[in-house]
Amino acid sequence: VCPVGALHEADHTWRLVKDLANPAKKVVVQVAPAVRVALGEEFGFEPGTNVEGKMIAALRKLGFDMVFDTNWSADLTIMEEASELIDRVTKKLAGDEDVKLPILTSCCPAWVKFFEHNYPDMLDVPSTAKSPQQMFGAIAKNVWAKEEGIDKKDLIVVSIMPCLAKKYEASREEFADKDGNPDVDYSISTRELAKLIKQANINFNGLDEEEVDNPLGSYTGAGVIFGRTGGVIEAATRTAYEWITGDTLESVDFTVLRGMESVRVAEVSIPGLDEKLGSKFRIGIAHGLGSARELLDKIRSGEETVHAIEIMACKGGCVGGGGQPYHHGDFGVIVKRAAGLTSIDEGKELRKSHENPYIKELYEKHLGKPMSHKAHDILHTEYFPKHKM
Ligand code: SF4
Repeated sequence: VCPVGALHEADHTWRLVKDLANPAKKVVVQVAPAVRVALGEEFGFEPGTNVEGKMIAALRKLGFDMVFDTNWSADLTIMEEASELIDRVTKKLAGDEDVKLPILTSCCPAWVKFFEHNYPDMLDVPSTAKSPQQMFGAIAKNVWAKEEGIDKKDLIVVSIMPCLAKKYEASREEFADKDGNPDVDYSISTRELAKLIKQANINFNGLDEEEVDNPLGSYTGAGVIFGRTGGVIEAATRTAYEWITGDTLESVDFTVLRGMESVRVAEVSIPGLDEKLGSKFRIGIAHGLGSARELLDKIRSGEETVHAIEIMACKGGCVGGGGQPYHHGDFGVIVKRAAGLTSIDEGKELRKSHENPYIKELYEKHLGKPMSHKAHDILHTEYFPKHKM
């Protein structure tokens, strides 16, 4: 069920072809984590195969001026979300009754829309951090373009997403400037990208692997696991743990947060915080909207107590998104894609978002620190009550 009316799959591929052919426009692209482990299925690769290098080469052949990565802005999202999590927990423990826990990750636009319609009494629960797609667009248009001397009217930001609801998210009016110029111009699905590659007669399988552009490209292992259920909250926990304790994690693999159970509650011990909370840090995870409703209803009624929640509208998270190659009901395909993301994370030298050197540089040069006034202006949003669905 798509709660955002995105099932018509607004197709912007023709607009993209025209923009790529327009020499007056600079066209940059970001690619979501889950795309790289599913795109290969359209070209005969096994589900879960990481085709990132070939995908980057194909995007350059299609004519994009710069090939960036949403995994980079997933790392940025964690900087803001982990800071907000710590800020809320600290204030709550100090007795501030205006502060709400649990905090809810809000990277999934279908879930956000569902929440706005069905839980208007809980709109202060989601993190105000924008999703990685929108953070990328906001930085590209408002920071990177300025640095590069590009007039943002001439910059087209395209996203390749596993998701149909991301098309809707990009068009939400709060993600545009006062002149109506959107941070992300439009979003193309994994299936649409595969179609474009085929139509352009690019021999995808024969492409040599290429590297992403910087500074909005390189990412840590924490950024890539955003694409599977449990990944956003695992990435946030890696950073929050180190910031709260001041210690280096011995293992970043929070396996208690992983798995494919539709609704799960896990506990993570955070020395220094456990004593103050009177319990371990409790995290709720749900994927699929029915499961999300089950978890939220238990929290609203007081039957379940958690400190943080991750919810994704699609089964398995974004690896199972509506814009991915069809899996014809075979959930094994989604499991393989999720395993592909975990394997990329495990192969990374840097696996914590706050260690990403390009993210550190962004804060040093432009934003100050997470949740600073400037970071809040560019990287945070708000939610609106909508009529019940
Ligand atoms: Fe989109 Fe599904 Fe991912 Fe939500 S879980 S962001 S709807 S692909």
